[in-house]
Amino acid sequence: MRPSRPRALLLATALLTAGCGPSPGDVAPVPSAPATAPSATTTAPVPSAPVSSAPVPSAGVSSAPVPSAGVPSAPGAPGAGDAPGPAPGLDDPASLAVVVNKRRPLVPAGWAPAELETVEGRRLRPEAAGAARELLAAARTDGVGVVLLSGYRSYDEQVTTYAGWVAQQGQEAADTVSARPGHSEHQTGLAVDVGEDGPCDLRACFAGTATAAWVAEHAPEHGFVVRYPPGQEPTTGYAHEPWHLRYLGPERAQELVRSGAATLEEFSGLGPAPDYAPEPAPGG
Ligand SMILES: [Zn+2]
Repeated sequence: MRPSRPRALLLATALLTAGCGPSPGDVAPVPSAPATAPSATTTAPVPSAPVSSAPVPSAGVSSAPVPSAGVPSAPGAPGAGDAPGPAPGLDDPASLAVVVNKRRPLVPAGWAPAELETVEGRRLRPEAAGAARELLAAARTDGVGVVLLSGYRSYDEQVTTYAGWVAQQGQEAADTVSARPGHSEHQTGLAVDVGEDGPCDLRACFAGTATAAWVAEHAPEHGFVVRYPPGQEPTTGYAHEPWHLRYLGPERAQELVRSGAATLEEFSGLGPAPDYAPEPAPGG
């Protein structure tokens, strides 16, 4: 798929919409990944994204239906010291417990939240939006500047974002910094990228800023966790992104920290997702 747009425009598009990756010039060498065949994923027809408050049937997923939507997961969460078990809602995009990664696409791929609120120009699910406002206010109180750089992205917006990275770097490199459409946590409306409105925003050097330090320490109080911690690429599929926060709700976010789990995958009792699953064999 050769885009016809000029490179400069693609660059601008990617930088404006990437949200989840350092700028192309700042990408550190990445461990070589198994070569992936050009995938039908990038050229598949875009499924329609029904926006509905009705529970979304999880077609094609073998797991049992899970309770949905908006209800804080695990109301009877185990206390500190108990081993965290798989939470309900891991497969349900409407659940705060949903886990989306390279092995766990949203189902259906074009799923969209029933409701979104705007916080400082970024769209988030209402639960996450309220928490983001609290986080921003708390940072301000502590004299730390935090800005929101990215929130909800639709399936179609992720198509554009990912295509921009592929056009610049090729698919293998793009897969290390940008999710394929239908695999982005931003599509859940529960993920937000934060920055300090400075030159290190969305770059590896953000890790060294006071803003990143504040966020790493205080995000769980507001229900967010740093989703892609350092050294966890074999599990999460992504290098350290100190700017990408995922809303779990304050109880589960703090429970994750207390548990000592390094990643949301581990906390949720799920296996690693270092890369995209191979295309299923025909008939199998
Ligand atoms: Zn992000």
